[in-house]
This record gives sequence, structure tokens and C-alpha cells, in this order.
Amino acid sequence: MNMLLNLVSRRFRWSSVLLAVFLLWGLSRITVSQESKISYNELYEETVKWSQEMYERTFVWWIPEELLEAYYAGHPFATEAWIEEVDKAVSPYTVIAVSDGKSGPFTRRAKFKTKVDIKANIKIKDSHGTRYLPISEDEISSNTKSFLASWKPVLEEAYGQWGENTHFILFPGKDKNGHRIVDPKKDGSFSVELGKKEFRWRLPLGSLVPPKICPTCGEKLNGAYKFCPWDGAKLPETKEEENI
Ligand SMILES: [Zn+2]
Repeated sequence: MNMLLNLVSRRFRWSSVLLAVFLLWGLSRITVSQESKISYNELYEETVKWSQEMYERTFVWWIPEELLEAYYAGHPFATEAWIEEVDKAVSPYTVIAVSDGKSGPFTRRAKFKTKVDIKANIKIKDSHGTRYLPISEDEISSNTKSFLASWKPVLEEAYGQWGENTHFILFPGKDKNGHRIVDPKKDGSFSVELGKKEFRWRLPLGSLVPPKICPTCGEKLNGAYKFCPWDGAKLPETKEEENI
């Protein structure tokens, strides 16, 4: 493993190699981080959305900082300093990865929207219905750009041509009062609007809040549920400090 890493690092910056190793490791295994007890895979499942209409497929991945933390936490190579760097790179933004392609009935190669096309037609919407436009490229820190660029090979590996044509679109991360525009651990909703399509998340994300126990039947349920799906019993509220 070390030999392989040494070999590869002659050609790439060590950080991107390490990152690629992390990513491949994460995509191929069920990873439950030791400290945060958040399952990366569950969070991944909850944050990725696909839509398909005839020959048009759209991939939208919301990448909250909790997802990256869960990804790196518990990994032997990821030091706290590294995780802090990742946090610094992404927390000022709301990060969305988008790929939008159209193929024909007899074509394997899809035709993809460019980043410019996507940016002209995309908005995010917070719980209050406030919409935000993408941040222009020159306002994004170069550190953040290189961090996100290092994910590209992994997306290519995982999603083929859809990965090759994935673009990271960045929106503001905080409102004018310094509060997060989208907090995946708090009640509410979040949407990505792309042209006429809406990709919507109901919040909190179940994998980020502790599970609930139904007071009637004792079933262990997704922490985002308000009522037991089996008997309709009202479930206890999740206290803020109980959030993982
Ligand atoms: Zn129940």
C-alpha cells in the first residue's frame, strides 16, 4: 500500500492522492465513524438524488459538511488537522454537485449541460422559501476549488460519463446573520431548483439525528419521524443537544 502510494504521489500532490484513497475507501465500504456515530453511507444515500425523464437524467448531490466529516472521521489517515482544513474549505458554502445529460434511444453517449448552462438555471431554497443564486467563480476560494477538484476522479470512477460531467455549484453557506442557510440537523426543508425540476429534502436528515423509540410499540425508528408509521403514536421531539 505504501509503495503504491509513493509511486502515485510522484505524479500527484499527496493531498489529492490521499483524498482519492479516502474516497474509494468510503464508496466501497459501509463506514461508521467512531467518534460521530454517523454513517457516511446512510448520509450519502440521503443526500444524493437522481431524476429521470425519458432520456434525460439529472444527478444532484447536496454535500453538507457533516457528510465530509462523517467521511473522514474514523479513517486512520485523516488527522484532526486535515478534517479542520476540509471544514474550512467547505463550511462557507452550500455545496451542490450536479450532472445533467440527455441521450437518445440509440446513443450511449449523452449530451451534457455545461457548468455555465447549469449555473444559469439553478437556485437553492431554504426552509423559509428564500432563494439563493450560485456564487460567481472568482468569489470562491482557490483552496475550496482544489479540494472539490480532487473529488472529480472519484465521481468519474463511480458514475462514468455522469461523473465526468459533474459540476460543483457553490451557494452561500450562511445568511446575513451568520446562521447556516441549510442546517441538515434542524427541522425544515431544502430544495435545489434546476430549471423546472425541484429536488427537495425534508429535514432533518434521518442519519444525523438519533433514532427514536415509539412510546406505544417500542419500535426503534428513524430520528426524523414525527409519528410512528405502525400505530400513529406521536414520537418525542429530538432535543437540540441530543443531535449527534
Ligand atoms: Zn409504534
